[in-house]
Amino acid sequence: MNRAEILKHFDELTVWRSGDQRAPHKPLLVLYALGCFTRGGATDIPFTEVSTDLTALLAEFGPSRKSYHPEYPFWRLQNDGVWTVQADGTLTAREGNNDPKKSELLAHNARGAFLPTVLAALRTDPTLVTEIATRLLDGHFPHSLHEDILAAVGLDLERETATRRKRDPKFRQRVLVAYEYRCAVCGFDVRLGSVSVALDAAHIRWHQAAGPDTEDNGLALCALHHKLLDFGAYTVSPQGVVLVSDQTTGTDGFAESLLRHHAKPIRLAQRPEWKPKPDHLDWHGREVFKGQARHAV
Ligand SMILES: [Zn+2]
Repeated sequence: MNRAEILKHFDELTVWRSGDQRAPHKPLLVLYALGCFTRGGATDIPFTEVSTDLTALLAEFGPSRKSYHPEYPFWRLQNDGVWTVQADGTLTAREGNNDPKKSELLAHNARGAFLPTVLAALRTDPTLVTEIATRLLDGHFPHSLHEDILAAVGLDLERETATRRKRDPKFRQRVLVAYEYRCAVCGFDVRLGSVSVALDAAHIRWHQAAGPDTEDNGLALCALHHKLLDFGAYTVSPQGVVLVSDQTTGTDGFAESLLRHHAKPIRLAQRPEWKPKPDHLDWHGREVFKGQARHAV
């Protein structure tokens, strides 16, 4: 496979779809495996390790779920033409599909690896890891989480060379105007000369989940509240009220910067038609927000 063919395989990973639910399993597995590859360890990655590490990645960067299934992407990535799984002995499939159970993968010491053609390309073209990782990050996660994900999977990249997704610069401008250049949660509005500093236009429904570049899908947020929103440390209810997760904890800084906004309404946009659409807020509450909302204080 040449470079273009390999990139095409990774661009076209078949991710499980159900309505507008997020499914970052395969992208996170590939990023994790790229991290293992760049650290120069064995090319076979044992499922015993993937099981623990990918579960942690899914809990941190995936939607909040009752249980996590690292075995699904580990097995099904084989259908995407980039990955293979070896095991000792024969793996028994579940009834109803071809997937072996997690217990089977563990019992038979299953190991996953990029296909030899992919490994050969990764070795001969050092920019390929960066390009694949950047495309997966841009395709599945908001920018504010990229560095955290790379750190979690142990990838250290020179990303200036990679092809970045183009963003609509007018979205930022329109959203900041809608909120009069102030954070919708805390009112932060620092300027350096005439330039707003550390103030972002955040997407409520992520761009990666087909969220539109419209005012009713945006919030002006300071850098801190933007990151905490994208991590799911808090959400905004369809009624426009800040809800902090019961999983989010801390001491003085936490109380001062986040908890005191709990159960309070966000600032209103200048015009009623720019109010966040309840449907987008509902998506964030289901697919990004972690845990449950705290009791009102
Ligand atoms: Zn803020």
